[in-house]
Amino acid sequence: MIEILNPTELARAKETGALVADILQTLKNRSTVGANLLDLDRWAQAMIAEAGAQSCYVDYEPSFGRGPFGHYICTAVNDAVLHGLPRDYTLADGDLLTLDLAVSKRGFAADSAISFIVGDSKPPGSVAMISATERALGAGIAAARPGARIGDISHAIGSVLGEAGYPINTEFGGHGIGSTMHQDPHIPNTGRPGRGYKLRPGLLLALEPWVMADTAELITDADGWTLRSATGCRTAHSEHTIAITNDGAEILTLPTRTHA
Ligand code: MG
Ligand code: MG
Repeated sequence: MIEILNPTELARAKETGALVADILQTLKNRSTVGANLLDLDRWAQAMIAEAGAQSCYVDYEPSFGRGPFGHYICTAVNDAVLHGLPRDYTLADGDLLTLDLAVSKRGFAADSAISFIVGDSKPPGSVAMISATERALGAGIAAARPGARIGDISHAIGSVLGEAGYPINTEFGGHGIGSTMHQDPHIPNTGRPGRGYKLRPGLLLALEPWVMADTAELITDADGWTLRSATGCRTAHSEHTIAITNDGAEILTLPTRTHA
């Protein structure tokens, strides 16, 4: 199913997008050395409830996971990259942490992910990898406009990731979003320009370039959810929800306020 939102619906989706971004920024600020992933999950739960929103994750039970996710945010450390199940782990200086959050409010979902380094260390390879996924996300957003096709976005993302030297996995990528978190069309992180669904104003997309430093192969953790790099290398992931407008695209998941 592909949804096209009317202006009233789009206004609601923007509200959800700002909420997701604000929660992510607050959690990033609290992801200091010594913080526990389970604390981040509890804080996410509290902020979602306080906003009168609903978690898209807690009851999520897709074919590739093991039972309902049961948590409120994905927390992926170092070699973990997607669907990171929060666990009893205390963050250390130099850890590469990815937070991925999707919530729904007043009927519309938004989805965003950020990767960053915990503490004062700045491991150069990790910083470069995070930067590559952020630049790829920017390139994908720049390619998103009415009349362009999904393949144009995939090509823009894949070109940045490929030129930066990262292998690209196409099992998981971006997606349509709207009244539910995951919708058509699927947006692979590499592809051929001019192919696929033609973009229209009112379409919401979640673009999400992610990479692993030296492999495209994933392995599933014993927890049944967390996907890790097959080689144990580090990973990075950047995601925004965007709306196709009359002349381009608008990012819905930008923070709106300062965060404690
Ligand atoms: Mg996400
Ligand atoms: Mg997503």
